Amino acid sequence: MNFEELLQAIQQEYPDLTFKDSGHFYWNSNTKTIYFSAPKGSKDNSRSSNKLLHELAHAKLNHSNYLSDAELLRIESSAWSLAKELCKKYEVRFDKEEQNESLQSYISWASSRSQCPKCKKNGLQTAPTLFHCPNCSHKWNVGKSRFTRTYRH
Ligand SMILES: [Zn+2]
Ligand SMILES: [Zn+2]
Repeated sequence: MNFEELLQAIQQEYPDLTFKDSGHFYWNSNTKTIYFSAPKGSKDNSRSSNKLLHELAHAKLNHSNYLSDAELLRIESSAWSLAKELCKKYEVRFDKEEQNESLQSYISWASSRSQCPKCKKNGLQTAPTLFHCPNCSHKWNVGKSRFTRTYRH
């Protein structure tokens, strides 16, 4: 089914969730809202459908808070596994590229945060916004953006 049909189908199936066309795809667990960006025109919109099903997967899995970047990566990857199942259910072509790009963006983000600013070795996350370098003992803080806000993909 196409994006519009899919949106209608899941809105009917999940009356407790709110859906908002906002220009971005993300899941807000506090307000139980799935934000989406409706595709323009009649071009192949399976990529948008994949993103919508990925957000639905976060909602179905009750994803809310996570304490480490590693946990976030696990959450993202589990949401994609479920999105793949949902694609079958709603007869949407699963877009492996979309999945890979999305996961890759989280991996690059996580690895740039974990690199020690002093010696460039890999640090350990000791708290949601704190890293510690086992090599040179440097400690550094990272932004909270992905912890306090919603899922970007
Ligand atoms: Zn270091
Ligand atoms: Zn996600």
